[in-house]
Amino acid sequence: MPEALTSVTPWRQELAQSLRDPDALWQYLQLPPEHLPAARALAKEFPLVAPMPFVRRITPQTMNDPLLMQLCPVAAEAQAVPGFSHDPVGERLAQVQPGMLRKYHGRALLITTSSCAIHCRYCFRRHFPYAQRARGPGWWRPAIAHIAADDSIDEVILSGGDPLMLSDEQLAQVVSEIAAIQHVQRLRIHSRLPIMIPQRLDLSCRQWLNQDSLQMVLVLHANHAQEIDEQVCQSLQPLRQEGVHLLNQAVLLRGINDSAQAQRLLGERLLSAGVLPYYLHALDPVAGAAHFHIGDQEAIAIMDELHRLTAGYLVPRLVREVPGEAGKRWIWPSGNDHGDCT
Ligand SMILES: *Cc1c(COP(=O)(O)O)cnc(C)c1O
Ligand code: SF4
Repeated sequence: MPEALTSVTPWRQELAQSLRDPDALWQYLQLPPEHLPAARALAKEFPLVAPMPFVRRITPQTMNDPLLMQLCPVAAEAQAVPGFSHDPVGERLAQVQPGMLRKYHGRALLITTSSCAIHCRYCFRRHFPYAQRARGPGWWRPAIAHIAADDSIDEVILSGGDPLMLSDEQLAQVVSEIAAIQHVQRLRIHSRLPIMIPQRLDLSCRQWLNQDSLQMVLVLHANHAQEIDEQVCQSLQPLRQEGVHLLNQAVLLRGINDSAQAQRLLGERLLSAGVLPYYLHALDPVAGAAHFHIGDQEAIAIMDELHRLTAGYLVPRLVREVPGEAGKRWIWPSGNDHGDCT
C-alpha cells in the first residue's frame, strides 16, 4: 500500500467523521426539532463533538437517552447557578503549564494533550480553549527527566484531555522512555477513547502497550451500561490477554446514572468486558453543568443501596478532588480514614 494510505488509520477516519454540527445530530437521531435552536446556540459556547461509534449506541428520537445527554447541548446550560463557576478546579489548571502534575505520593501525572474524541457537557474543560497548542518534538522530555531524577515516583499516569489522541509513534516514544526508568513500576493511562472509538485499540497501539518492564493499567471512562457494546468488549479482549489491568472511572450525573440500579448495571456490564469500576467522581461544579449535579447526601444513599445490591468489587469509590489534599477525598466509603494513609 502507498505510504499516504497506510497513515490514515481506521480510528483516525472515525475521528474525522464525528458529528460537530447539531443539525447533523438532529437529523441522524431524528430528535424533536423544538430543542434544536438551543443546541445550536449552546454549541457556539462549547462545540458539539460526537464520534459515530458512540452516536450509534443512542436510541433515536430520545432526548433523555443517557448517552445523548452526555454530549448534547441543552438550554439548561445557559442558566447561571450560584456555586458553579468557570474555573472550579483553578489549581489543577494552574499546574498544567509544565505538562506535569505532582500532587500525590509516588504518582506523577503527565498532561499529554488537551484534545478529546468527545466533548462531555459536564466537563470542567468546557470553559477552556480546546485548540491544541502545537508542542515541539520531545515536549515530554523535561517531565521525563524530572521523573527519572526522583526515585519516589513508581507510577506514571498519562492523562489529558485524552492521551490516546496522540499518535502511536509519539506514544511508543514516550512509553519507551518511561519504561527505561528503573524505579517506575506502573504506567497508567486515563482514556475515554476506547469507549468512544473502539478501533483505537488497534495492533500498533497494542504494540507499545505491551511492555515487559511495566505493569500497565488502563482506566476507561464510561458512565452508563449502554456505552459498552459488543465492539467495545471485543476491542478490550486482546488487552486482557496481554495482561493490561482494566479499570473504569465514571462521573455521577443527574438523569444519566443517578440510581443504584444504573450503577449496578454499569458495574456488571463493565465486568463482562473485563473491567472493574474504580472511581465514581462527584461532578466538578462547573458553570453550565449544574443540571447534572447530585448532592452528597443523595449520592451517599445511592452508594449505600448499591452496596446492598451487588458484589463489593462492583462498587466504585465515590470521590471528589479537593485542592491541597494528598489524595482524592473519599465520600463513600466515608472519610479519609478508609483512604490513603496521609
Ligand atoms: C487523580 C490523580 C492522580 C491519581 O490518583 P489515584 O487516587 O491514585 O487514582 C494522580 N495525580 C493527580 C494530579 C490526580 O488528579
Ligand atoms: S473525555 Fe474526559 S477530559 Fe475529555 S471532555 Fe470528556 S470528561 Fe472532559
